[in-house]
Amino acid sequence: MTDETTHLVALDKWHVWHPFTQMRDWCAPDHEPLVLVSGDGAVLRDSRSREYIDGNSSIWTNLHGHNHPKINAAIREQLDAVAHTSFLGFTNPPAIKLAAELLKIAAPNRLTRVFFSDDGSTAIEVAIKMSVQYFQLIGQPHRNRFVAFANAYHGDTLGAASLGGVGIFHDRFASHCFPVERVTSIDELNELENSETFAAVAIEPLIQGAAGMKLWPRRMLAKLRSWCDAHGVLLICDEVMTGFGRTGTMFASLQENIAPDFLALAKGLTGGYMPLAATLTTERIFEAFLGEAHEQKTFYYGHSYAGNQLACAAALANLAIFRDENVLENLQPKIALLSELLNNLQQHKNVSETRQCGFIAGIDVARSDGSPFDWTELIGARVCVAARKHGLLTRAIRDTIVLMPPYCITAEQLCRAVAAIEQAITEICG
Ligand SMILES: *Cc1c(COP(=O)(O)O)cnc(C)c1O
Repeated sequence: MTDETTHLVALDKWHVWHPFTQMRDWCAPDHEPLVLVSGDGAVLRDSRSREYIDGNSSIWTNLHGHNHPKINAAIREQLDAVAHTSFLGFTNPPAIKLAAELLKIAAPNRLTRVFFSDDGSTAIEVAIKMSVQYFQLIGQPHRNRFVAFANAYHGDTLGAASLGGVGIFHDRFASHCFPVERVTSIDELNELENSETFAAVAIEPLIQGAAGMKLWPRRMLAKLRSWCDAHGVLLICDEVMTGFGRTGTMFASLQENIAPDFLALAKGLTGGYMPLAATLTTERIFEAFLGEAHEQKTFYYGHSYAGNQLACAAALANLAIFRDENVLENLQPKIALLSELLNNLQQHKNVSETRQCGFIAGIDVARSDGSPFDWTELIGARVCVAARKHGLLTRAIRDTIVLMPPYCITAEQLCRAVAAIEQAITEICG
């Protein structure tokens, strides 16, 4: 067996270090990594020509499917002009147009400025640093602390990780992170003292992703906005996962009719094609940074690939697809079907709970008496490996199986995806 796949896998096991991966298991002789080589719509194909439904939209990024003709064409057209030019001291057409279009669809009365970076984590870093500098610039440097929620996930760079509260990811680095006031609810927030020392509070609106697809109570976000207004604290909405239709509306924060002071966007921004992030903010914050050079009000922050032309062209095509193909309207019956399928799946003796927010589902796997498995048994991961044999790729968060396929998935494919999860649960837990 010296075919191309065997060769690639051997090279990978020799040379590559994968994210969030125990590499001893990965490199073990009996582990067969899938080498993904192509895709169409909601389907991915591996190097041995096996097909799978992309059950987690390639780690929560893809929206309209793989190999989408309009995004492909937009990237190709941009490529014939130029791929990347510096956004430090220069500008470019796709980035300008994208900024204007993002502001049109996200709280246009409040958010007026777009700062580009590369990833969800950097979108959050930008919001953190802008908040700190903002309060320095308006003469309130004592407002320099942050509030974040238990089990939050805002990315892996150190600033974003400081706001994060997922113990298994973050505890090890706690001494290298800045201290954060951590709360579990609005009630706990109301009990916090010294609120005049807080710069900002960060939240994943409606649903915490990496925590295991945990839903917030209704109106929670609206209450948080009121608390921020009452205490002069800035609100950072991390819509890196929830943005661009995932929860059924263009942005999750629209469902509670609130506008944040910072809106962090990434994952779906390019339709899942390329790394690109945007931090949207208000004119009030922007204006505080204006001044003479000697006043040193400039925001000294940026990444080499800020405003990347190829990525911005992909993002513009992504937004055009939403407009031209009634994506959000067409998604509603699929959200309803997902809900029906989850109701049925809930009857399985090893499913203790299912949760849904728009086109995101979390399926908790447990013992038949409802008690959790020991996490070291890696049941969730094993269910996902078993699901591959039934034509589904996804990734679990501990024992929560995530299902959030591209919006273009057909009803038949969605039924097959849930059936694959059901069969896999039976095989692993039964
Ligand atoms: C994925 C994610 C991030 C981090 O984004 P990266 O692009 O992986 O850096 C931040 N916040 C939320 C809510 C996320 O889901």
